[in-house]
Amino acid sequence: MDTGFIDHAKIFSFLESARPPDASETADILAKARQLKGLDYAEAARLLLIDDGESLAELFAAALFAKSEIYGKRLVLFAPLYVSNMCNNECLYCAFRKSNDRITRRTLGQEEIRRETELLVDQGHKRVLLVSGEGLGEAALGYSLKAIETIYSVKRGDGEIRRVNINIAALPVDAYRQLKAARVGTYQLFQETYHGDTFGRMHPSGPKADYLYHLTAMDRAMQGGIDDVGVGVLFGLYDYRFEVLAMLQHIRHLEETFGVGCHTISLPRIEPATGSDLSLHPPHAVSDADFRKIIAVLRLTVPYTGMILSTRENADMRREAFSLGISQISAGSRTNPGGYSSPDSGEQFSLGDHRNLEEVIQDIVGHGYIPSFCTGCYRLGRTGADFMDLAKPGLIKLYCLPNAMTSFKEYLVHYASSRTRQEGEALIERMMADIPDAQVRETTVKNLGRIEAGAKDLYL
Ligand code: SAM
Ligand code: SF4
Repeated sequence: MDTGFIDHAKIFSFLESARPPDASETADILAKARQLKGLDYAEAARLLLIDDGESLAELFAAALFAKSEIYGKRLVLFAPLYVSNMCNNECLYCAFRKSNDRITRRTLGQEEIRRETELLVDQGHKRVLLVSGEGLGEAALGYSLKAIETIYSVKRGDGEIRRVNINIAALPVDAYRQLKAARVGTYQLFQETYHGDTFGRMHPSGPKADYLYHLTAMDRAMQGGIDDVGVGVLFGLYDYRFEVLAMLQHIRHLEETFGVGCHTISLPRIEPATGSDLSLHPPHAVSDADFRKIIAVLRLTVPYTGMILSTRENADMRREAFSLGISQISAGSRTNPGGYSSPDSGEQFSLGDHRNLEEVIQDIVGHGYIPSFCTGCYRLGRTGADFMDLAKPGLIKLYCLPNAMTSFKEYLVHYASSRTRQEGEALIERMMADIPDAQVRETTVKNLGRIEAGAKDLYL
């Protein structure tokens, strides 16, 4: 099988010859990581082999340092919107796979998409991730374009969706051009596994079975003008150390070819899915301990790349993950088409976190994190390489923290219970001191007052 720029032999030779770093090597690598310029492939590989408690504690402390320096205590929130669970693929881990007759199939009409969007907007969401199976054949692109238009067109009193990201099957360049023209934000596609043979076994039939076409989707997306792309691995299919190193090769390939790597990395672990035996017994299940290590190593290796955790994980793991490097989470999610209007069967996988948006927000705030609904960068054209320039230490705090405050304030004014509002406003006040620049602090205080008085959508 042609595995393109994923150099399997190089990864295996690393893994075969590598040994865990001793205390002084660990200290050297972590000292470099604390400069926030990223790590090279060999250094990341060494960190992945750490297995003693003391070195792990140092790794986690360095990850916490990087997370706090670059992102502060800010967490971006979004909701997935599943529009179709029809699929022509046979991904062995997924409930949507073609031959699974244990779920009810459904593709939402535009009116249903509108209704789902209204329900998300009414909860206070501003960012949606549009998700679907690969079952609509040639109609898929037109349907997705229409769905994006429908979502953006929903206006509900005080709210609307301001950024639609999308997670759909690999497409040709021209299709990405059309998605870009439809104002799509990030294009996400997970490689699931970078290991060629495993990929072949996991995807026995359907268009997704083509490893190389799937792998090169991000190249085509960037050629089509989409600056923000999101990669991911479905952890549990193959050795996590191989997967992380291969994903780093993928990111380096994008950097070398387009001058910018990926905007986000998603870190799903396999969850039980109806009609999938494999999902109940993942062949390389990743333990909680290894999962923490993966998050920390990635945070230090690509410090300016957003990292996403979904409701697949339970509340405890999500909380731990925030301090290790996660910067975006989904909240109040349903993974069946129409799930916000009527939860029924047809879920993609079972969720580890069943709380609604407000409950998630209360929890986040209780742990001193500020939820952000900001969509400013994308709307000001700060995407791709421009975003990466912004994302240097200090600058995220200068722009993103004030924008988190104003977007959260909007949530508090229009959607929160009085208890959440009180706690949220106290948090905003405490965090004001974290904005490094006096003038920006002043503007932010003014903007918060304007939102209190009814203004919307203020960002720097
Ligand atoms: N159909 C498109 C595709 O496969 O790329 C996009 C939508 S698919 C529903 C989104 C992601 O769900 C997949 O990329 C896969 O990583 C994830 N997924 C599938 N089955 C899962 C399971 N049992 N547990 C956790 N995540 C799963
Ligand atoms: Fe279809 Fe995507 Fe599920 Fe595979 S992961 S069966 S392509 S929805």
